[in-house]
Amino acid sequence: MRVLLLGGTAEGRALAEVLHPGVDVVSSLAGRVPDPALPVGSVRIGGFGGVDGLHSYLQEEHIDAVVDATHPFAATMTAHAAQACERAKMPLLVLARPAWEPGTAEVVASDREAAEIVARQRYKRVFLTTGRSGTRAFQGSDAWFLIRAVTEPDIDSLPHHHQLLLSRGPYRYDDEIATMREHRIDTLVTKNSGGDMTRAKLDAAAALDIPVVMVDRPALPEGITVVGTVQQAAEWVARQT
Ligand code: NAP
Repeated sequence: MRVLLLGGTAEGRALAEVLHPGVDVVSSLAGRVPDPALPVGSVRIGGFGGVDGLHSYLQEEHIDAVVDATHPFAATMTAHAAQACERAKMPLLVLARPAWEPGTAEVVASDREAAEIVARQRYKRVFLTTGRSGTRAFQGSDAWFLIRAVTEPDIDSLPHHHQLLLSRGPYRYDDEIATMREHRIDTLVTKNSGGDMTRAKLDAAAALDIPVVMVDRPALPEGITVVGTVQQAAEWVARQT
C-alpha cells in the first residue's frame, strides 16, 4: 500500500507520523516555505505540473491512494488532486480540519470583500493575517496594516502603510493580546483556517472587543470524501488495503 499524502500542514505531518512505517507514505510539499517542518517518512518537494503531471506521478510512483491534507485555502491543489484521482480511478480523501465558528465575525467570500468592509467601516489599524497571497486586495487602502505572514509577500502586493511581521505559528493568547494592544489594532482580518495553531487571535480579538472580518473557505470539489481528524484519515487509509 503506497499513499501520496499532500501536506504542508500540521495535520499532514501528524498523519504521516500515524501511518509510518506500517504504510508506505510519500508526503508532498509545495516548496513555498524555506526550511519547512518535515514529516517522517519519504518526502518530495515541488509542484507536479498541473493535473497531467500529478496523474503521471500517480502512475509512475505506483500510488494506491491519495490523502489531500493541504491547507483549506490551497484550493488549486485540491482541485487538481480531485481531477487526477478521478482520471486515474484512484481513491482520494480530503483531510480538512474543522472550520472555526465565525461567532460575531463578518463572514466574506474573498479578500476583495474583506478589503471593501475595511474601507466601508473606515477601519484604521488592521491586523491582516490572510497570508502572503492575501495582501494584494488591500493595496489601495488608506488604512495601516500589521501584516503577519510566514514568508514575505511580493513587494508590489503590499498596501502603502504597513508593518511586516514574518513569523510562523502556533500563537499564544497572551502574545496575541499584547500584539493587538501594542499596535492599537482596531480590526482583525483572517481566513477561516480552522485548527488550534492560530485560533488564539480570535479569542484575543473577542476579549479586546475588536471586530473580525473572516474570509470563508473555498468550496471543496463535489463528491469528495472528507474527514475532519487525523484519526479518521488513518482509518480511511486502513480500509483501502
Ligand atoms: P495552491 O494555490 O492550492 O496550489 C498551487 C500549486 O502549488 C498547485 O497547483 C501545485 O503545483 C503546487 N502545490 C500546492 N500544494 C502542493 C503540495 N502539497 N505538493 C506539491 N505541490 C503543491 O496552494 P497554496 O495555497 O499555494 O499552498 C501551498 C502549500 O502550502 C500547500 O501544501 C498548503 O498545504 C500549504 N499551506 C497553505 C496555506 C494557505 O493559506 N494557502 C497555509 C498554510 C500552508 P502544480 O500544479 O505544479 O502541481
